[in-house]
Amino acid sequence: MDSMGNNGYQQERSTAYQEHEDRRATRVHEVYDVAIVGAGAAGTSAAIFTARSGQKTLVVDAGETGVLKAKLYNHVGFDKVYGPEFFRLAREQAANAGAEVVQAKVVALRRDGGSAGCDSGEVQSDDPGTYVLQAEDGREFRARWVILCTGRWLELARQAGIVTVPGREHRYPEVIQVDAEGRTNLPRVWAAGAVAGASPHTIVVAGDGARVALNLLSDIRGERVIDHDVLPAKEAARLEAGAAEPANR
Ligand SMILES: Cc1cc2nc3c(=O)[nH]c(=O)nc-3n(C[C@H](O)[C@H](O)[C@H](O)COP(=O)(O)OP(=O)(O)OC[C@H]3O[C@@H](n4cnc5c(N)ncnc54)[C@H](O)[C@@H]3O)c2cc1C
Repeated sequence: MDSMGNNGYQQERSTAYQEHEDRRATRVHEVYDVAIVGAGAAGTSAAIFTARSGQKTLVVDAGETGVLKAKLYNHVGFDKVYGPEFFRLAREQAANAGAEVVQAKVVALRRDGGSAGCDSGEVQSDDPGTYVLQAEDGREFRARWVILCTGRWLELARQAGIVTVPGREHRYPEVIQVDAEGRTNLPRVWAAGAVAGASPHTIVVAGDGARVALNLLSDIRGERVIDHDVLPAKEAARLEAGAAEPANR
């Protein structure tokens, strides 16, 4: 523990975040394609899909995910995994996919430029403008699309004028109202995971983050997006025959 009460894991996380922030600070007025608020299972999963599809992706997280306290025995693919390890792997995977991960608390979301009337639900494609995400420490991030994956934290949604509805899951009395695809009432602002009413289990919210990201990507491209990587037949045969991994990873 240090004087701030941080353990080794938290210090390691702070260092990694700081490195990301330093890189970020060198780029002024950068506009991201997609900004994701919240790097829990939902946000990191959404980021993997948006970044892999070539969208310039930012993930902003205040560092309070409940996953850090979780002991996961019910996430397929892991016999068991503890929260900090799960969170580290998820963030690492999002960063490897090309997403930029920054530690900051977003306190305001406002639209800059484009057509007026954020609550119309219509995207003005000729002049869509951008969203400005205002962080508590004064930094501003800009993005064309936003996905809110803020778990049980609703302050930002409320500040931005996003419509909420009663939730049905334990500890989630209120959630963001989304349509079947994941859109909120603000144009180009989507929501996924527990904050959007998904059952609060890592496997479910991770799936919901992926689902909403794919819906958003499909909207951007104007056709359904699928993200599959296929092994060449020779490599598949090697693996079937018992090889531990493909010759060319
Ligand atoms: C103690 C505990 C044990 C659990 N055990 C299990 C288990 O065994 N199995 C299981 O499947 N699930 C378990 N869960 C539930 C699982 O962790 C949640 O379902 C899951 O965390 C919800 O995921 P999420 O991505 O929607 O939100 P979260 O993981 O809550 O992530 C939301 C993130 O958004 C960030 N955020 C919020 N507002 C802002 C803002 N304004 N600016 C920047 N960042 C913001 C927060 O800091 C947080 O990191 C457990 C949860 C807890 C708390």
